[in-house]
Amino acid sequence: MGMPDIRPSVSSAALVLNASYEPLCVVSVRRATILVLSAKAVCVTDGEGILHSERYSLPIPSVVRLTRFVRVPYRTHVGLSRRAIFARDSGRCAYCRGPAETIDHVLPRSRGGGHAWENVVAACAPCNHTKGDRTPAELGWRLHAAPMAPRGIAWRVLGHRAPDPRWSDWLDLSAQTAEAA
Ligand SMILES: [Zn+2]
Repeated sequence: MGMPDIRPSVSSAALVLNASYEPLCVVSVRRATILVLSAKAVCVTDGEGILHSERYSLPIPSVVRLTRFVRVPYRTHVGLSRRAIFARDSGRCAYCRGPAETIDHVLPRSRGGGHAWENVVAACAPCNHTKGDRTPAELGWRLHAAPMAPRGIAWRVLGHRAPDPRWSDWLDLSAQTAEAA
């Protein structure tokens, strides 16, 4: 059975649910299609578009559910990356709420501040430059919100990815937004 061509113009990711309907991960549409074609998963929600091959046409999957339950060791921590920090902070500076371009350590690293979710924020370049090696308290600045590690199933499954609106039935995206705010 030859694999159909999957055009890059279509939504390129699909959400995978466990047999129990619990969201597991995000995979490429190609991978999700292979799961469906090999009967390891069924399509729950169609995406946009149809896959054509010589022998069949198949709606592009947006959400698939595994036919057999798999036990997955969960990652409990969201990796600390620049993209994830920007996603958590909605791309806004923690000090002035303007568009952020940089990452700032609230307690500067030179003064023992850790590279951890609780001590990193997105910041605009002017605020970051002005702040330098000082703490917000020394400048009389206040953080918009205390930085925290992101939590929740949506973060675990999505990481820094933008969710497809078709996945909203399965991921509590409102919680993610609340945590990111
Ligand atoms: Zn700023």
